[in-house]
Amino acid sequence: MTSVAQAKSETIEFPCEEWIATRTPQGELIGINPVPGSWTMISGEDRRRFAERQMNVKAFFACPRCNQVGFIPEGFKPPVTLGDTRPLGELHCRKCGFYCNVILKDWDKRILYCACYETRQGDSLEPHKEYLHAENELEAKGFFWSQHGREVTNLVGIAPAIGFFMEKPGDDRILLV
Ligand SMILES: [Zn+2]
Repeated sequence: MTSVAQAKSETIEFPCEEWIATRTPQGELIGINPVPGSWTMISGEDRRRFAERQMNVKAFFACPRCNQVGFIPEGFKPPVTLGDTRPLGELHCRKCGFYCNVILKDWDKRILYCACYETRQGDSLEPHKEYLHAENELEAKGFFWSQHGREVTNLVGIAPAIGFFMEKPGDDRILLV
């Protein structure tokens, strides 16, 4: 009798890509267009909305084969040595059965940015803050506009944030540098 050898799985790098989102006029996420074999960081506002529904989501990734979307939770903090150099873990897709080791490229390289923008509520403008990760301001703007559309009346600005407090939703302490 021979035992079944553990198949050595393939290692695949998942780049960070912009996924185009569809939103309600209130900014609520109703659909997202995943890029197969990539990951994307979701905004702080979306994380709060997921948290309200008892869901812990920090980022999405998509199966390279069937594009099934998986969640990466808030607590997922791989050691810095993992990031770009060693496989993080195993992906086993429940939909198509695809199996590989994953490297989330640039997971640790991104800077937290804060975007301040306004939406129209009747006759007045309502201010919003949203947090997103990007390597630079240009990329932060690209991510922001991939996530938003005409519901944004005015993008006031995007700047690096050095504090991010998720513990008390609604408590908007943030330090801008
Ligand atoms: Zn799959």
